Amino acid sequence: MEKIAVKVDDLTVAYNYKPVLWDIDLQIPEGVLMAIVGPNGAGKSTLIKAILGILKPIAGSVTIFGKPYATQRKHVAYVPQKGSVDWDFPTTALDVVMMGTYGSLGWIKRPGPNEKKRALEALEKVGMLSFKSRQISQLSGGQQQRIFLARALVQDASIYFMDEPFQGVDATTEVAIINILKELRKANKTVVVVHHDLQTVPEYFDWVTFLNVKKIATGPVKDTFNDDNLTKTYGINYKVSIQK
Ligand code: ADP
Repeated sequence: MEKIAVKVDDLTVAYNYKPVLWDIDLQIPEGVLMAIVGPNGAGKSTLIKAILGILKPIAGSVTIFGKPYATQRKHVAYVPQKGSVDWDFPTTALDVVMMGTYGSLGWIKRPGPNEKKRALEALEKVGMLSFKSRQISQLSGGQQQRIFLARALVQDASIYFMDEPFQGVDATTEVAIINILKELRKANKTVVVVHHDLQTVPEYFDWVTFLNVKKIATGPVKDTFNDDNLTKTYGINYKVSIQK
């Protein structure tokens, strides 16, 4: 039987008593590269934040490989939405990536040569090695996104959550990011991505969840990514001309 990486049961989340996620049941199998799609305000970011315990649900529960998130933290990496990060913080690209290694260190230990080596390798992987000493505030949006991806990579997690990693990046960066995500999947990692560009869903992802306050559908892209679910999620007669 396939292993379930993330299991969400009866999850309801509200802001100021207004539910923005309603009674979500969701199982994400291990090793999938999954897009979460839905209109603005559908609750996509909220779902990720609730899974990661950043937001407290009013009902429901979440397990990561069968256990509560609190005990599974080190297996989970998160790349937040770009706008939610304070880029003025005075730190270099390398420092940001090094922070990703902290989870694997004990309380007293400080990052050493091994952590630095891993951070440099991750920077190289995302094509940012030559920017290692640059202040993060002096990088473009796409470059900052690559740095955050590098930080997630050094965490060596089992599950990666990424909130719109392609937002505001150029075509080259988009290809670089998707290649890394596909590599992660090959290594049997589970990758969950909030995604906006419906046209690229079949090309980039093998699993998809449609969300609009409620869960509309979830499953393999080939069975689930169809006009019926798009219409239920985005409104009347939504159609995209997808080449399958
Ligand atoms: P998505 O990621 O699908 O665009 P979000 O999860 O960001 O949607 O937001 C879902 C709903 O919750 C939206 O209606 C949004 O306005 C509302 N919302 C998000 N964050 C907050 C907040 N901090 N306080 C109040 N309402 C919020």
